[in-house]
Amino acid sequence: MLVVLACSLLASCVRVGSAGEITELPESPESSLKLSGDLLQPLDSAPALLLLDEPPPRTTYVLNVTLDYAAGVVNAQQRIEFTNPAGEPLKQIRFNVPPARRAGAFTLHDVRLSGAAEPLPFTLKDAVLTVDLPQPLPVGKALSISFDFAFRIALQELVDGIGGDDTSRGPQGLICGHWYVMLAPFVNGDWYTPRFVPVGDPYTSELADYEVNILAPQDVIVAGAGDESHSGRLWHYSLPRARVFAFAASNQYQVDQVTRDGVTIIHYAYPQHRAFAEDVLITAERAVALFSRLYGEYPYRTLRIVETGRSQGQEYSGLVSIGTTLYQGYRGSGARHDLIATTVHEVSHQWWFNVVGSDQIQSPWLDEALARYMELRFYREYYPADADWWYAYFILGKDPSAVRGAIDLSIYDYPDARAYVNAVYRRGLIFMNELSKRLTPAVLDEALRTYYQRMSYRVAQPDDFFDAIAEHADKDISDLTRAYFARPLRLPCRISAGAANCRH
Ligand SMILES: [Zn+2]
Repeated sequence: MLVVLACSLLASCVRVGSAGEITELPESPESSLKLSGDLLQPLDSAPALLLLDEPPPRTTYVLNVTLDYAAGVVNAQQRIEFTNPAGEPLKQIRFNVPPARRAGAFTLHDVRLSGAAEPLPFTLKDAVLTVDLPQPLPVGKALSISFDFAFRIALQELVDGIGGDDTSRGPQGLICGHWYVMLAPFVNGDWYTPRFVPVGDPYTSELADYEVNILAPQDVIVAGAGDESHSGRLWHYSLPRARVFAFAASNQYQVDQVTRDGVTIIHYAYPQHRAFAEDVLITAERAVALFSRLYGEYPYRTLRIVETGRSQGQEYSGLVSIGTTLYQGYRGSGARHDLIATTVHEVSHQWWFNVVGSDQIQSPWLDEALARYMELRFYREYYPADADWWYAYFILGKDPSAVRGAIDLSIYDYPDARAYVNAVYRRGLIFMNELSKRLTPAVLDEALRTYYQRMSYRVAQPDDFFDAIAEHADKDISDLTRAYFARPLRLPCRISAGAANCRH
């Protein structure tokens, strides 16, 4: 009964499919909307604010998607349930809408309080959506807002850059990375709505639970993150405690999987690269085993690795993508190849991005230099004879003099993607490697374990990283941070020889 009520309140259970037929999308019972009996009394003639009975434990996204694969169009009805994130009543709520940064690509048909008869006024400018509430949302109270939107998926790599166009399609498939209406984090008294740049990962979002239904054509295989159930054309995903929900789709995917220690790793390859599935799966399996043992558990039952038409890898929650160009030239054995290194790198982001969150815009080194160090850690563990090759090939490269720049700047501070990669990924790894030599690799592993355990499901700052190190080491590392960092940094006294302004 509750399910039926939720459907009629949302008016979001019936979609018109791409071929024009009416198709049912189920409502997941555990995420059904429960509206409060005590509506906030309207002031003047303003309509009531429909509050939720109880604040959800985390922000909850429910997405019903109809994928028009041939046209590259996503139609979606979305609901976000969230609690007032500010310490004051809020009259406006803000959202980041990444696909809207392309003029004409994104259409927002409707925004309303879930269950309300009338839509809400909104403005959508520079990929930031501002929604005006009829009444201020009180402190500690929760609300559900429903959206109806559609967007055209861009063709792959129209924009260069690391992470640049992570919602795009090519001749063999598509990927939707940051593609929906994302509640902006509320940080230091304001909504966090960073502008897009084609450098780094220009995205931000907070931990949330996801329930997603995707209706796709019969011949299309969908690969979304989290627990999957699949019936005919309908794919359902349930993904708790995630930074983002991504999915890929292709009518050519060849699927292979392996299960170890309760984690099923699934590889989706285009036919020409299926022969490498075993190597990718073994690599991912080893990476999960190593990082779980050293730092802490992988949080989900599944990990999906999807091939895309892009030229790079990208991390999401419970899912990583590997660009098709990274498979090229792999001979089907050995570890001296981009395919192996990138797989390890992206898998390691499940630890340093998903579980331990960080600000990818202001402090991209905090997950990227660590992910790079995870590659080196992996090679030393499983391919010690190739570790020096890895360092020479990926870090020093053909022109070691290009490896320069402070590693700790924001994505806006690097002139282009190349300078960003040289500083954050390559020189960032050199910093991590120097740190491991100073502390010993074993002590750095212990510090990273503390950092992982303490900052799980939180957003770490550089201070949290150095605090964890200071718990396991008392060597002075201030000469290293002076050499590699440009921003003011107050190290703990234990690892800065009691410098004048050190933190106790
Ligand atoms: Zn990375």
